[in-house]
Amino acid sequence: MWTHYPELLQRPVPRYTSYPTAADFTDQVGAQRYVQALDAIEDGTPLSLYVHIPFCEEICWYCGCNTARSNKRSRLSAYLDSLHEEIALAAHHLAGRGRVQRISFGGGSPNAIEPLDFVRLVGDIIIAFQAEDPLISVEIDPRQVADDWISVLRSARVRYASMGVQTFDPLVQEAIGRVQPYEDVLSLTHKLRDAGVSSINFDLMYGLPHQDQHLLMETLEQTVSLSPDRIALFGYAHMPHIIPRQRRIDTAALPGEAVRFAMAATGHDFLVEQGYQPIGFDHFAKPDDPLAIAAREGRLHRNFQGFTDDESEHLIGFGASAISQLPGLYAQNAKNAGVYRAAVAEGHFPIERGVERDSESRRHGTLINDILCHGKAPLPHRLTQEQSETLEEFVQRGLVTTGAGQVHLRPAAAPYARTIAAIFDPRMAGRIGSFSAPV
Ligand code: SF4
Repeated sequence: MWTHYPELLQRPVPRYTSYPTAADFTDQVGAQRYVQALDAIEDGTPLSLYVHIPFCEEICWYCGCNTARSNKRSRLSAYLDSLHEEIALAAHHLAGRGRVQRISFGGGSPNAIEPLDFVRLVGDIIIAFQAEDPLISVEIDPRQVADDWISVLRSARVRYASMGVQTFDPLVQEAIGRVQPYEDVLSLTHKLRDAGVSSINFDLMYGLPHQDQHLLMETLEQTVSLSPDRIALFGYAHMPHIIPRQRRIDTAALPGEAVRFAMAATGHDFLVEQGYQPIGFDHFAKPDDPLAIAAREGRLHRNFQGFTDDESEHLIGFGASAISQLPGLYAQNAKNAGVYRAAVAEGHFPIERGVERDSESRRHGTLINDILCHGKAPLPHRLTQEQSETLEEFVQRGLVTTGAGQVHLRPAAAPYARTIAAIFDPRMAGRIGSFSAPV
C-alpha cells in the first residue's frame, strides 16, 4: 500500500510524455527545420507514424484532446484530403528512406470517420511508405462502433486497440458528459478479440466528479471481468481555465487530494492482486502482454501516447496538432484544422511550433525517461542545493535510495515518480506552467 505524503505532492508537474515538454515549444521551429530533420533520416531507419483524427461523435466534458464534433461530412472529407496530401508530402521527402514499423491512429476518435475512409488511409500509408506488415494500433470510442468498422479492423490487421472507458458508473458518466453502457464495452471487447486484435487497452480515470473509492472499485471489478490486456488508470486533471469544456464539470463534486491518492493506491493494489503488472506510475498490463515484457526487459519508453514498447527514435505525426518526435527535434503541426489544411494545400508541412533537442536536453530527457520507465537512473554528479534537499525528502521517507551513483525508486515511490523526475528537470526551476497535480 502506498503512503500518502501530501507535502511531497504540492507542486504541479509535467506528465513527461516528451522532454523538453510541450510547454517549451515555440514558433522558432517551423517547416524548414522539420524538412532538415526529415532529410537527416537514413535509409532503413525504423519509423513509427501517428495519424491524428481530431473528431468525435460527441464531446466529453473532461476531454483535453484536440478534437471537435464530427457532425459535418464536408469538414471531415476536407480534413481527410489534407491528411492524404500531408502523407504524400512526407513520403516524397523521405524518398524511400526509413522503414515504417508501426502506425497508430489516435484523436479524437479514429472511428468518427467512415470505415472506408480508414481503409483508404491505411492503404495510402502502406503504399506511400512501402510499409511491410506494420503493427497498427487504433483508439476507439466504444459508443459508436458499427459492424462494418469491425470488419475493417480485421481486414487492416489491426493488432492493438485502446478504448476510452473512464468509468462504468452511470452517475459519474452523467457528470462527465460521457454516457456509455457497460454492455457496449462488453460487446466491443468480444468483437475486437474475434477480429484478431491481440492487445486491448482500457483507459480508466480516478478523481472524477461524485467518484469515491467504492465506485472506482466497482468499475475496476467490471473492467477485470472483461480481461483487457492493458489498463491505464489516469488521474483526472481539472483545468477549466485552460480547457473550457471542463467548465461543465461541477468542481464542488470533485474528490479532494487525499481521496484521489486513496483511489490511485486502491486501484494499483487491486490490479496487482488481479495479476496485472504495474507499468510505470499509471499503466498495468498482463504479464504476457508486449508492454509488460518490454518493462521487464528494460525496453519501456515514454512518448506522446504514454508508456510504450515502441523503440523507434523517429515518430512522424500527421494531422492537426500531431507531434513528430525526431532525434534532434520535436515539431508540432498547427492545432487549428483550418490552418493545418491551408498550409498543406500550399504544399507546406503545417509545422506551427516545436523545440530543438540538443545534447543537453536529450541527456536530461534520458534521465527522466529512466526514472519513469525503469525506476532508476544514474545520479548526476552535480546537483544544486535545492535539488539535493528535495531529493533528500524522498530519501528520508524511504521512497528513494541513492547508492553506487544511482537514484533508485522503491515500488512505493510510484505515485511520486513524476515529482521525483521533476527534481532533475532544469526547466522546472521557478515554473508552474500548465502542469497537473502529480496524483
Ligand atoms: S471520445 Fe475521447 S477524444 Fe473524443 S471527446 Fe471523448 S474523451 Fe475526448
